[in-house]
Amino acid sequence: MKGETIAAISTAVSSSGIGIVRISGDQAFEIADRVYRSPKGKKKLSEQQSHTVHYGYICDGDEVLDEVLVVLMRAPRSFTAEDTVEIDCHGGVYAIQRVLEAVIKNGAAPAEPGEFTKRAFLNGRMDLSQAEAVMDVIEAKNEYALKSSVGQLRGSIGQKIKDLRAKIIYHIAYIESALDDPEHISLDGYPQELEKENEAWIEMIEKLIRSANDGRIMTEGIKTVILGKPNAGKSSLLNKLCGTEKAIVTDIAGTTRDVLEQSINLHGITLNLMDTAGIRDTEDIVEQIGVQRAKKYAKEADLILYVADSSTALDENDEEIIELFEGRKVIVLLNKSDLEPVTTEQILKEKVGEHPVICVSAKDETGFEQLEDTLKNMFLEGSLSFNDEVCITNMRHKAALMDAKESLKQVTESIAQDMPEDFFSIDLMSAYESLGTIIGEAVDDDLVNEIFSKFCMGK
Ligand code: GDP
Repeated sequence: MKGETIAAISTAVSSSGIGIVRISGDQAFEIADRVYRSPKGKKKLSEQQSHTVHYGYICDGDEVLDEVLVVLMRAPRSFTAEDTVEIDCHGGVYAIQRVLEAVIKNGAAPAEPGEFTKRAFLNGRMDLSQAEAVMDVIEAKNEYALKSSVGQLRGSIGQKIKDLRAKIIYHIAYIESALDDPEHISLDGYPQELEKENEAWIEMIEKLIRSANDGRIMTEGIKTVILGKPNAGKSSLLNKLCGTEKAIVTDIAGTTRDVLEQSINLHGITLNLMDTAGIRDTEDIVEQIGVQRAKKYAKEADLILYVADSSTALDENDEEIIELFEGRKVIVLLNKSDLEPVTTEQILKEKVGEHPVICVSAKDETGFEQLEDTLKNMFLEGSLSFNDEVCITNMRHKAALMDAKESLKQVTESIAQDMPEDFFSIDLMSAYESLGTIIGEAVDDDLVNEIFSKFCMGK
């Protein structure tokens, strides 16, 4: 891409061992020459081979700013597919800022957030779904998020979408040619043939859309609400799981009034835990708000963790909570299993039906491993395999798939109603275009700018 040569600090700006200033564009080597000085003062970077590393100094006029290593990558063999120079400086905040300033003073423009990746996309080095994956890799917080974004970065989603588009465009072309040349290309029996293919495409798109929920769970975590009557031990369990003292634990019923949120990582699964006010009949207005909220959260959550107290009998408060379980994913924790049980596992199982019951003790920290295993079985088994399954994690991709599905459903409708063939191609074309937005074909500048503006500086 012709245009300005850009520069930015591409590593975190904090005091660290090294920090990298990246320069990309036609002038990258010339600008680097203006600020670089080799130990003997004779070497010119613009005369050196691609993919080589050079020791030396970065200077602002006569002032030496830092001792550096400079990495040279000539177009198109670089991240942006442009001439690129990376200066490995010492990572001090002030030192690296001075190096960047010197580079800018000598002709580079400051890069916008995400501009390096945007150039990689605009130069055809990667499709839009891969460019978005760069950000997801950077932001991945657990093993599953990292695996799925690396898969996307390697082009897994892009390839699937490209294959599907190729099939759709074939049919559009076929219909158009047949309409242009009815003498030689017959459309007899064609709608039935298209219908069969179209159904298979819809099915594949639906599968991808379904994977988006798993994708969200992987990347963002399982939205989890902890329910249980006051004193069941919710805060104690939360504290033990989080390993911190965020929730206030006391033995006066009703201490936890508001909703606390905390993310924890259990063997690669992220749980976003919300501890709520214990559900119970209460006159206290503040607590009532908390109770309402607990019920609301229970509706929105991916998972309900219900904490029951084994040292007391189940009462109407427990009944009220159990009523919320209908159609939800629930794990029942029978807490205080270190004490003599009043409510046994058997009694509880009869109440909660098919939901798994695990005996735990927040005090003795027992039962946590079984909780992890149950979580894995519930959320990750089967539905998520990274070998061949493509998993959608990006909500923009999901929306585009939904649009494409709608258009393909319209094709089915038109076939059922014996509409003329050119109706099919209109909807096929709009599905083709919706799918194209995922990989960045024919997307407008505003969308591209919006996507890359979410990147951080230097990426
Ligand atoms: P919450 O109201 O449900 O959040 O309950 P808390 O976490 O505040 O705990 C209520 C009381 O039960 C506190 O005195 C805790 O120390 C106690 N408790 C919590 N978990 C256990 C447990 O596993 N065993 C025993 N023996 N006591 C517990």
